[in-house]
Amino acid sequence: MKHGTSSKNLFTLAKKFIPSGVNSPVRAFRAVGGNPLFIRRGKGAFIWDEEGRCYLDFCASWGPLIFGHAPEGLVNILRRELANGTSFGASTRKEVELAQKIYSFFPSMEKVRLVSSGTEAVMSAVRLARGFTGRKKILKIDGGYHGHVDSLLVKAGSGGATFGIPDSAGIPEELARLTLSIPFNDFRALERVFKKEGRQIAAFILEPIPANMGVILPQKDYLELARQMTKRYGALLIFDEVITGFRVSKGGAQEYFKVKPDLTCLGKILGGGLPIAAFGGRREIMDQLAPAGPVYQAGTLSGNPLAVTAALWMLDRLQASGSRLQAPDHKMHTSSSGPCSVLGTLNSRSEIFFNKLRHFICENEMPVQLNSVASMFTLFFTPDSVTDYVAAKKSNTKRFAKFFHNCLEYGIYLAPSQFEANFISTVHNDSHLERALSVLKKGFIQ
Ligand SMILES: *Cc1c(COP(=O)(O)O)cnc(C)c1O
Repeated sequence: MKHGTSSKNLFTLAKKFIPSGVNSPVRAFRAVGGNPLFIRRGKGAFIWDEEGRCYLDFCASWGPLIFGHAPEGLVNILRRELANGTSFGASTRKEVELAQKIYSFFPSMEKVRLVSSGTEAVMSAVRLARGFTGRKKILKIDGGYHGHVDSLLVKAGSGGATFGIPDSAGIPEELARLTLSIPFNDFRALERVFKKEGRQIAAFILEPIPANMGVILPQKDYLELARQMTKRYGALLIFDEVITGFRVSKGGAQEYFKVKPDLTCLGKILGGGLPIAAFGGRREIMDQLAPAGPVYQAGTLSGNPLAVTAALWMLDRLQASGSRLQAPDHKMHTSSSGPCSVLGTLNSRSEIFFNKLRHFICENEMPVQLNSVASMFTLFFTPDSVTDYVAAKKSNTKRFAKFFHNCLEYGIYLAPSQFEANFISTVHNDSHLERALSVLKKGFIQ
């Protein structure tokens, strides 16, 4: 197949050999209609499709690319590492460095295991929680997405929310019955489920800031209550920070809200686009893992040297002092979450963008909600504020689809579904964001 084959032709061919033509459902554009783009390359804030059209990218591979596409430093270091081999199936020095470094970002992760995808991290954390507590039930929130883990594809968000198939075929009812689900931000439901089932619950797993039914903020004290209830009933609290980790702050949502979980799952940004994820937490829980402990977990490519190299580079960059636009007062740059840090700079630039967008929505009295935190956001096409899955599902997905395609036409690539987050990266400069703002404004027009 030659370069420049149209996305449309590629999709037709893809459907012959790949189910629905894609390797992950939401890529098929079913939620917005039309043909999915086939991407040839990315650089900085931009991606190019097979036909050579250029888009300003706010999907960022669904979050990992906080430093944009193909950052030079990462490309160079990967090229060097590649020459040393791609996998050994034996331990490497860099894995130890990375475990130590993750601990420095997430002090709750006293011990950590590396895996290859967010799904794998969550699946392992859930098994570990069951093994550690000797209990069977898992509690999650409606619309919470944790990868395609059998036990957690119950009232799941992301692809599930998009397609309205909360339960996948192929998951035994007997297993699904062990999963309890409650609405997010519902304090009474949380208390009630623990009163009724608390002693059977191995773990409460949630995204501390749900981002797979669109971005939804936890109400004040909700996460604290989750911490209290799990503690009281001897269940583990698992924060799935696959999106929020290294995004909302250096130490994720647990640092941002100052709530300490027992176990944490990381992924996405950790590898900057390479397949790596991690789960970790309290020492005595993690020590239940094989070979010392009874909970089995393994992986041929776990701790893959290329992925680990990428992760070390990502964390170094996140730690480095931030914007070169700041005055060269080095003392100001020492804090890694302060206003001059990488994330501090990104977050304040994002905040200015969100404020302008919110102002436009209010001024024009549009039935649209902008939910945002740090550098991620969702525009819900509904007049009512969105605080849980039920509210998110009230969005007018037809209007979203129109909006999405309008923006695409003007060269802005958003996440192709109402129920996903969009991401601003450090490579989105002020002029990119100004351009995005004017396109989004035009995009609202039906
Ligand atoms: C993306 C995601 C996962 C799954 O990660 P994969 O790498 O796609 O398997 C799990 N949890 C959350 C919160 C995610 O956003």
